[in-house]
Amino acid sequence: MSSSMLEHLARGVLALSHLAGAARAIPPYPKEAQYVLDLIVRECLHSGLTPPSSLPELIGWCVDLTASGREPIRGVDLIVQSLVHPVQRVRTRTCTEVGGWSAVSDRIVAEVVADIPDEEARRRRAVLASHVLITSETSRTVLMKDPRMIPALKAVKDCYLPAPEEWIVRGKIALCPTCGLLARSEHPDYELVSWCETETCPRRTRITNRVSASSALVLHPALRLYHVLPARTEQILLTGLKTAHVVAHPSGDHHGCYTIRAPNPAVIRVYDRIEPGPLARDSLVDKVDIAVVPQLDGEFRKMFQEALPGGAEVLIRTVDEIFEILTGSGKEFR
Ligand SMILES: [Zn+2]
Repeated sequence: MSSSMLEHLARGVLALSHLAGAARAIPPYPKEAQYVLDLIVRECLHSGLTPPSSLPELIGWCVDLTASGREPIRGVDLIVQSLVHPVQRVRTRTCTEVGGWSAVSDRIVAEVVADIPDEEARRRRAVLASHVLITSETSRTVLMKDPRMIPALKAVKDCYLPAPEEWIVRGKIALCPTCGLLARSEHPDYELVSWCETETCPRRTRITNRVSASSALVLHPALRLYHVLPARTEQILLTGLKTAHVVAHPSGDHHGCYTIRAPNPAVIRVYDRIEPGPLARDSLVDKVDIAVVPQLDGEFRKMFQEALPGGAEVLIRTVDEIFEILTGSGKEFR
């Protein structure tokens, strides 16, 4: 599967998002960003269009990819949102989905759980899923709750990084009370969520979990979106399968995939996504039969099906639909 210009652009934005604010506008740029700038300038000149004069101008394009003169970036009609948020000026979840951060997350998790027994792997994945940030207090709270998790916590420490600048407000880093990922607050009181990493949570909910940014380490951004976010739905699914006496075995190289045998054999994985197109691509890479999502509307289902190449068959189902099938009599997934 060759990468589209849109995917190159998303990777360029993501490479820049790893840099601190001021460094983003100063060359030399990350290689992914310079590469896509060169590609688009060449395409524009070839098509007689005015190219972006600089990388900052190209990033400005990413706020509204449908504006005139941006024809070299094809595939824009296949995504729901833009790559850079128009107000918050940060990379969007769409950008991470198009740019392939799910594979980055899978790679990190695979390294963390390589060559260890299944039970220890489960603990390490659970620690990552339940700790978006860690502080000097984390070891003590984990020890009080479940001492068996301490070796797992030590083993995943390298997955945590210094607090990202764009999420620090007045020296603090905050978690969204709804999704548990990073949140921003605004003047005048800095008590209410103005924006969170999930992008879909209600605004103006009260922040209750806020720590000094200098004393906290934050989970790698790809793991926040592609491990933590689907983990809650995965837990609901696994609990429901157990209740229905359906055994789910970890499956394949992709952690998070499970093989179930009833009502008919299938490989399943839980996803939590904004964009149907990149989800279709990733579900094929994962070789799943059913992509399970927290919720689903008709438009998303249709765009997912249309994004699958001819002959490929991947079903998309909500957790509730899976449970309805399991509790129905004689039904199959298909
Ligand atoms: Zn949230």
